[in-house]
Amino acid sequence: MIRHDITEPIRLEVDQIYHLACPASPVHYQYNPVKTIKTNVMGTLNMLGLAKRVNARFLLASTSEVYGDPDVHPQPEEYRGNVNCIGIRSCYDEGKRVAETLAFDYHRQNNVDIRVMRIFNTYGPRMFENDGRVVSNFIVQALQGTPLTVYGDGSQTRSFCYVADLVEGMMRLMNGEHMGPINIGNPGEYTILQLAETIQKMINPDAQLTYKPLPQDDPKQRQPDITKAKNLLGWQPTINLEEGLKMTIEDFRSRMEAEES
Ligand code: UDP
Ligand code: UDP
Repeated sequence: MIRHDITEPIRLEVDQIYHLACPASPVHYQYNPVKTIKTNVMGTLNMLGLAKRVNARFLLASTSEVYGDPDVHPQPEEYRGNVNCIGIRSCYDEGKRVAETLAFDYHRQNNVDIRVMRIFNTYGPRMFENDGRVVSNFIVQALQGTPLTVYGDGSQTRSFCYVADLVEGMMRLMNGEHMGPINIGNPGEYTILQLAETIQKMINPDAQLTYKPLPQDDPKQRQPDITKAKNLLGWQPTINLEEGLKMTIEDFRSRMEAEES
């Protein structure tokens, strides 16, 4: 294990690079937006420079955020997106768009062997309690008996993929023949209100909901078209939302009980 800031160059000998560095929760990537864009631009440049030098295969963890607030639904890989380049999400979504550009330019110019995956909303055990994304927020709130914070009217949608499914898709992409970009996500689409009600039912039917303002540029809908992942990687998710939530809730419950005692 080496602890290193990838905005600084590093020389290593490796066969494969899973380039996952970058906070993915809006709360965390907006905390230091300049550092977020440095990670996505300079960090990706350094990892591609490393891949070029040692002839390693390079996998970029890109994101459904490259589609912005999409006006095509569900989102296929060909869709070019609807992104605000000066908004509060742009350090992340424009950062990842540049990262994809760098990957394809290193491929065309230097023959670097690239894989680009577009990750949709993901959740599961071992997320931080202060992660700030919707699934962990709602679970922590319901377990603590505080109201679940729904942003806006809760009619916006997301499609949530269980982490083990995501990792399987990532490894198939890395070790397969297709460079992508390929969407990896669970097409099961829910409104945020439906998610709140599901978690409420599973943890505490008496839990209250409270409504907060919708953050700027919050995408109204999101659902992956996973035709490519199915056809090219033989991959599709196997764990539905209720099953995944059950395992995630168990994990949060035991960690929070351990903290209390
Ligand atoms: N780089 C790195 N590790 C390496 C090789 C390169 O961190 O093993 C960095 C390098 O310092 C540069 C970036 O990756 O900032 C891009 O490298 P490349 O060789 O493509 O460009 P150049 O160094 O020629 O500008
Ligand atoms: N959201 C919410 N309550 C929260 C956190 C998020 O209603 O406590 C909403 C948020 O506005 C967005 C959706 O849930 O519409 C997913 O937000 P998240 O931060 O998890 O991911 P992203 O917006 O990047 O998809």
